[in-house]
Amino acid sequence: MCGIIGVENSDNASVLTLAGLLTLQHRGEESVGITISGEVRMKTFKAMGLVSKFFNSDDMLINKLSGTAAIGHVRYTTSAKSSLTNAQPFQINCIHGNISVAHNGNITNFLKIKKLLLKKGAIFNHTSDTEILLHLIAMSKGDLADVVASSMRKLEGASSFVILKDKTLIGARDDNGFRPLVLGKINNSYIISSESAAIEVIGGTYIRDIKPGEIVVIENGQIKKSFLYKKRKKQNTCVFEQVYFSRPDSIMFGQTIKEARIKMGEYLACQMKDIKADIVMPVPDTGYFAALGFSRTSKILFENGFVRNHYVGRSFIKPAQNLRDLTARLKLRPIKEVVDNKEIILVDDSMVRGTTSKKLINLLRDVGAKKIHFALSCPPIIGPCYYGIDTPNIEHLIAANNSLEEMKKHLNVDSLTFLSLENLVKSCSFGNKNEKVFCTSCFTRKYPTKISINTCKEGL
Ligand code: 5GP
Ligand code: MG
Repeated sequence: MCGIIGVENSDNASVLTLAGLLTLQHRGEESVGITISGEVRMKTFKAMGLVSKFFNSDDMLINKLSGTAAIGHVRYTTSAKSSLTNAQPFQINCIHGNISVAHNGNITNFLKIKKLLLKKGAIFNHTSDTEILLHLIAMSKGDLADVVASSMRKLEGASSFVILKDKTLIGARDDNGFRPLVLGKINNSYIISSESAAIEVIGGTYIRDIKPGEIVVIENGQIKKSFLYKKRKKQNTCVFEQVYFSRPDSIMFGQTIKEARIKMGEYLACQMKDIKADIVMPVPDTGYFAALGFSRTSKILFENGFVRNHYVGRSFIKPAQNLRDLTARLKLRPIKEVVDNKEIILVDDSMVRGTTSKKLINLLRDVGAKKIHFALSCPPIIGPCYYGIDTPNIEHLIAANNSLEEMKKHLNVDSLTFLSLENLVKSCSFGNKNEKVFCTSCFTRKYPTKISINTCKEGL
């Protein structure tokens, strides 16, 4: 997954972009990059790791941060090709001048297009899918917005883009609207971002979502053009953004993600109304609001029974893998006084492999939990995502390979409940169950686009 942002018409464009990236850090921790343009020659800086480290590095010394327009990117991928070369934005020089692109999504017909481009003699510097958009743009003459439109028409799958050329900022979102992309304003500047929280944190105001299939062209603090390059009957926005990925303070479908998660918990409580317990406990952090909603509806006491250590990085987890209990306890440690001799409703957002969940449940048993009812604020994940969420292959998805009873046994829980798909959709769309705007393919294996087996997992 990735986070993207662009700011134009501001003397503070680069600092605002970096501050926005800090707010989008949860969408990608592996690499960070920023392209600066405007009154200065276009420059791109990239680094592996977190935005905060980058912000303080020599490269980012304040005198290099001039320019009135900028785009930025944070990247997350679990593949080995998480390298500086594949870090974004990608800046090129072509028939349109200097152009830079940052992408969130996954282009599902990437290999097919790449093969055609290779035959035509195209040279690739990266292994990520994003580069094909640059090739498609570079091969067509004419107005840049029209060229972006014709290029976008060739792409399948998930693509939210911010594109920078001199002082012009362009936002483009695929016609399914898989990944979010929103528009905001701060003083005389427009902002385009993956999430509204990044706009609000830097002092701006969220205006609206960029529509599925829409291209917005912004220059000198004005929307120069906005149009639909393609229109589809049904929008297919990733519902997992609301379950897990997006920040709780971001707005989606007219409500905060926090509100959607509270509703998920309320519906879960209705589904589990016959189950009695002493406390409702979230798995931090993403289970928090669903547990709160559960507690409000069920009137069962909300308790925080885990302490989360925010400083445990992946770099430690890997080498310490043979000390399994240690790594689990390092990240989340149960508080014995809260858990001991209690019947607990444990709420998490989702179960993917089931490995984290099993460890946490073991930890709770170790400190005396009497009964554990495990509740998930989404349905069983039975299919991989081809649109940007890094879910593993089907053989590693616990719910794709086990019955409810088998999972219950494996996890060693007294009951196991998943939020129904209908209740999830209602939670995410202001209670309107007829709102068919979501991609729910990880729960149904019904994919809204053709999927080729060679689909590249790059460019997340
Ligand atoms: P599991 O028990 O399946 O091993 O892990 C479930 C946990 O993984 C949940 O707490 C959920 O918040 C988290 N999770 C769900 N999707 C993702 C993802 O795409 N990336 C990461 N890092 N964690 C995820
Ligand atoms: Mg979690």
